[in-house]
Amino acid sequence: MSVDSRRRITVDRRDFINYRTKCPFCGETVGPRFVTREHLDVPPAPPYAASVRCPRCREAYEVVFSDSA
Ligand SMILES: [Zn+2]
Repeated sequence: MSVDSRRRITVDRRDFINYRTKCPFCGETVGPRFVTREHLDVPPAPPYAASVRCPRCREAYEVVFSDSA
């Protein structure tokens, strides 16, 4: 996987909220605590995506919620 494709990952919202999403760079488990910005501008059920910074490797990437795409 290229670095660019790892900058935007698609996950199930419930997995993310329950810390079952892994950082695409280092495999650390991430969740709502590590959100730096929510993207609320697209209906119907915001947030549809969030910016996340990994607590271990410090990489920043977008998490897109598959159930609101
Ligand atoms: Zn990481």
